[in-house]
Amino acid sequence: MGLKIYNTLNKTVEEFISTEENKAKMYTCGPTVYNFAHIGNLRTYIFEDVLKRVLEYNDYSVNHVMNITDVGHLQSDEDTGEDKMALGAKREQKSVLEIARYYEQAFLTDLEKLNIKPATVVCRATEHIEEIIELIKKLEEKGYTYIANNNVYFSIDKFDKYTEFANINIEELQAGNRVEVDDFKKNPLDFVLWFVNSKYDNHILQWESPWGTGFPGWHIECSAMAIKYLGEYLDIHCGGVDHIPVHHTNEIAQSEGALGHKWVNYWLHGEFLILDNGKMSKSSGEFLKLDRLIDNGYDPIVYRYYVLQSKYRKPLVFSYERMEDAKKSLASLKQKVKAIVEDTNLEEEINKEQIAIYKEEFKTHINDDLNIANGFTVLFKVIKDDNLNNKEKLTLIEDFDKVFALELTKVENKEEIDEEKVGWVEKLIDERTQARKNKDWAKSDEIRDMLLDSNIEILDTREGTSWNVKK
Ligand code: AMP
Ligand code: ZN
Repeated sequence: MGLKIYNTLNKTVEEFISTEENKAKMYTCGPTVYNFAHIGNLRTYIFEDVLKRVLEYNDYSVNHVMNITDVGHLQSDEDTGEDKMALGAKREQKSVLEIARYYEQAFLTDLEKLNIKPATVVCRATEHIEEIIELIKKLEEKGYTYIANNNVYFSIDKFDKYTEFANINIEELQAGNRVEVDDFKKNPLDFVLWFVNSKYDNHILQWESPWGTGFPGWHIECSAMAIKYLGEYLDIHCGGVDHIPVHHTNEIAQSEGALGHKWVNYWLHGEFLILDNGKMSKSSGEFLKLDRLIDNGYDPIVYRYYVLQSKYRKPLVFSYERMEDAKKSLASLKQKVKAIVEDTNLEEEINKEQIAIYKEEFKTHINDDLNIANGFTVLFKVIKDDNLNNKEKLTLIEDFDKVFALELTKVENKEEIDEEKVGWVEKLIDERTQARKNKDWAKSDEIRDMLLDSNIEILDTREGTSWNVKK
């Protein structure tokens, strides 16, 4: 069975057919680097990684481009509020570029911790101002723009299909006061391509342009960079569902306006991660980042596993209770795999037909609009199948793990544990030593159990406490 995916463009599940045989050109909207990513953002990047791995499982070579927004994203996606980057710089009393590079690195490190494959090209908005200006010039030549208050606007009334992608009902939006009135806009849904005059003066990053010194609006960067690196026809474009009504709608208007033809064949959107007590948002102060999960004793891969258990098109609720369940369930799965790894006779014969049947079954599920949960069902079936020898099981587990990326066959020993985990173990052991000094036996036991859950055994001797990875 070929790969089928839900296409937001046509609102149906469709067979994926790429423009070039065995090649997939994919663009994913990257982060605005003014703060850490929260685990909701990371859910979207995990979904995109799974999509990429499923494409690769289907023998596509994926050319993947992701942007880094380091200029021009105002607090709301509709061009209102302050520039997020400037806010970050003010908050931390650093320069905008210092903030941008710091959070970009933090973001890329998070992706690595989650076994998310790096994009083929990661590109920064500030390094593509020339391409952005060229694209705006093209839109201007074709009559899609107007200038008001010295800023360049995209006129959505010039792009007939504007409301189609997100089923936008302009009258309803206006009646519900969901669009802020900007007297300079001809239509309230018009958006800025180039700011010369922003409400907030002294924008730090500014460039010369035919319209005056200023900076680009947020949406135009994705069109400019996607076209530069992937050409005029894209196979796939992704992001979170929040991008459908504004950012992606605007990207389509700009790109198709400038190119004069359809731009992207498949649009895929990941649903939101929500907290059991409401929405996850960076503007509301405290938010959950990956390092917080690590500090609380969770390997980042447990979070990946958590996300993989649910369908990408359904909202997912996060709670520490469910995280605990995910941790136990992954530990038990890894324990089963470990038993197979340790009891595999590499000389054993493999029944290639049997392997092919299971691979096909697995592929049928993941190709059914990324039904990863059913992929896990096949994995468990393989583990339990008495007709398979351990070498066959291992071959299949390794194969499926190309999509899951949970390092299922990696048997940890102390030498192999990465530095970060060693640091985490040692920090907990110090805390436990302190608890024991304070005769806080409950806390001491709690820490020991927490380490055991992560497969770390501790041993108290007169010289102190030593630790080992459980065999
Ligand atoms: P941003 O840095 O705000 O542009 O967001 C980065 C990515 O995370 C985008 O693709 C958003 O659609 C996505 N996103 C934002 N909030 C959530 C959430 N709570 N759950 C899942 N994805 C999200
Ligand atoms: Zn984008």
